[in-house]
Amino acid sequence: MKTIIEPFKIKMVEPIKLTTPEQREAILRRAAFNVFQVPAEEVIIDLLTDSGTAAMSAEQWAGMIRGDESYAGGRSWFRFETVLRELTGMPHVLPTHQGRASERILFELLGGAGKVIPSNNHFDTTRANIEHSGAKAVDLVIDEGKHPRNRHPFKGNMDIAKLETLIAEVGAANIPVCMMTVTNNSGGGQPVSLANLREVRAVCTRHHIPFFLDACRFAENAYLIKLREPGQVNRSAREIAQEMFALADGATISAKKDGLVNIGGVLLMRDDALAQRANNLLILTEGFVTYGGLAGRDLEAMAQGFTEVLDEHYLEYRIRSTAYLGEHLLKAGIQIVEPPGGHAIYIDAAAFCAHIPPAQFPGQALVCALYRHAGIRAVEIGSVMFGADTPPPMELVRLAIPRRVYTQSHIDYVIEAAGEVFAQRSKLRGLRITEAPPMLRHFTARFEEI
Ligand SMILES: *Cc1c(COP(=O)(O)O)cnc(C)c1O
Repeated sequence: MKTIIEPFKIKMVEPIKLTTPEQREAILRRAAFNVFQVPAEEVIIDLLTDSGTAAMSAEQWAGMIRGDESYAGGRSWFRFETVLRELTGMPHVLPTHQGRASERILFELLGGAGKVIPSNNHFDTTRANIEHSGAKAVDLVIDEGKHPRNRHPFKGNMDIAKLETLIAEVGAANIPVCMMTVTNNSGGGQPVSLANLREVRAVCTRHHIPFFLDACRFAENAYLIKLREPGQVNRSAREIAQEMFALADGATISAKKDGLVNIGGVLLMRDDALAQRANNLLILTEGFVTYGGLAGRDLEAMAQGFTEVLDEHYLEYRIRSTAYLGEHLLKAGIQIVEPPGGHAIYIDAAAFCAHIPPAQFPGQALVCALYRHAGIRAVEIGSVMFGADTPPPMELVRLAIPRRVYTQSHIDYVIEAAGEVFAQRSKLRGLRITEAPPMLRHFTARFEEI
């Protein structure tokens, strides 16, 4: 069969409120042209993020009922720890309330003034936590990763020569950890190859630098390795994921992505002394080491989610349905980051709104247009999110696809709407910021149209 179906049935539904263009115009103005400020009820198709938006399975909901809410050493904690240890091989498993809590603990321990932390591309919360500690976050993605039209199969890879140069410049002693984001969210959801992970591992080993994964989308990355990397097609996604983790000294994970849950995170490490210090911080701000700011039922749902996500029928559907959206946008003449990655399609907003300069936020203009036209909520990943100091290499608009939530007809609606906005693209207007906080400004900035 050529048709790849959603490999699940729907047994609970949530109605979508259908708004009119006039209603949306008023809503957008009230939100000061920032869709983070739009109430979710006023959104028809919500592609703001794939984070924490997954539909849980019947088994996960059953786990929610079975959850053991004991303060220390609950049954749910042991199940969670066992699943994570089997998957990652990491002896120290710390539960956190979400990915950035893992980051905050890790960089409070390893960051600090004078330190430099490389990655392929740091995600925004990772960068913010590194900078908050006083350290510097450096992006070393391969040049192919900066060109939307380049169809390199692993555009999330790190440039090994740039890593060597950085180490020579600042000294290995000032690099407390090297990160790698799999898949590379800020760089277009593009995967990292096993070959590249092995090379980075080797460089880090040579210079005694710990190597950590930002492994939010480890399963999608593993499946893209299976599809795209020579010699990997006959291995299971699970085996590939296990090898990815085996190459690392630790990992931060937001379970709100490939954990298939609505809240939760993990901090993983091999080093006993570092884990001891991390546990102390965990107790200080998150909770005791066997629940880390979560309920026992959350740990159950995560344990089940981290197991289900490696089901190959699920991964085939997931990767294929993302590609479906991307291929249809390309057919409509809309440039996206090619090839389609795992969790999202990224529209090249600089190409879409060629008449709007980066200083007037072409990505934000497109985000506003998609909401106005069809009630679709997307997110800008460009000069608003990253350009407070220096302009980022790409102006992107991300259409992130929640896991197991929308059907093909929802996606067909998005394709149609994007095509209609594209036909009237010369009418889109740039924006200026009227108010913004010093950090993570995209969440709360206010705009007006130029
Ligand atoms: C979502 C995400 C994070 C942060 O996780 P939260 O659960 O949102 O705190 C970190 N890194 C990457 C790559 C992410 O996608």
